[in-house]
Amino acid sequence: MTIEFKHVNKSYEKIHALEDISFLIKKGEFVSFIGPSGEGKSTILKIIAGIEKETSGTVIRPEKIGMVFQTIALFPWLNVYENVALGLRSKKIPEKEIHLIVHKYIKMMKLENFVTHRPADLSGGQRQRVGIARALAIDPEVLLLDEPFSALDPKITAELHDDIISIWRNTGKTIVLVSHLIEEAVSMTEKIFLIKGNRLTNTFLIDLPYPRREHGRFMEEVSKIRREFFK
Ligand code: ADP
Ligand code: MG
Repeated sequence: MTIEFKHVNKSYEKIHALEDISFLIKKGEFVSFIGPSGEGKSTILKIIAGIEKETSGTVIRPEKIGMVFQTIALFPWLNVYENVALGLRSKKIPEKEIHLIVHKYIKMMKLENFVTHRPADLSGGQRQRVGIARALAIDPEVLLLDEPFSALDPKITAELHDDIISIWRNTGKTIVLVSHLIEEAVSMTEKIFLIKGNRLTNTFLIDLPYPRREHGRFMEEVSKIRREFFK
């Protein structure tokens, strides 16, 4: 299962959001799209997800995706367990099996102590964890993350970075992250696509061992990308 764009263009009425975008994401890769705001990063994710349709070009999209946004739409009247179970309810899965799946991801996202909490009684970081658990519970081929950390403080963000890296390594899922932070993309992903002027201008391969921020070459990689980002 790969994701592929071939010469994809996207217009929203008068706004041209994507210009001749081509890339290939292989199964199990962890990649990111970075770039200034308003240049089409979210549009790429929405086209991968099938929420938006390309105006022209060819797209090979995955069948089953899990998606996490900057602010997750949790159902305020449902507790953590029910919010995570949501995507499974429509699939006629036996309740016993739902229970096992939900607890697996609640544990993975360190929410064991909050199972019966409602979203209003959770911190911002915990709410994002619920959203990630819910996205994973349906066992998607691909996890799409659209700036999922940008409303969180740096400490919580760093913890979630580590958790997402572990999930990727332990599940082998394909993960596509959108970020406007170069450091975030370099600390997490194997391949970085830079989107500028609604075009894919550069692709960077990051071949550093984890944890990357401690690596001597981390800032060197960040600077290399920063030069292109602000050019
Ligand atoms: P990014 O995620 O990089 O900030 P987006 O993909 O959200 O960028 O947006 C790219 C461009 O398309 C922007 O100019 C934005 O205003 C526009 N756009 C995005 N979604 C819509 C929409 N549903 N209708 C009209 N214009 C949109
Ligand atoms: Mg966006």
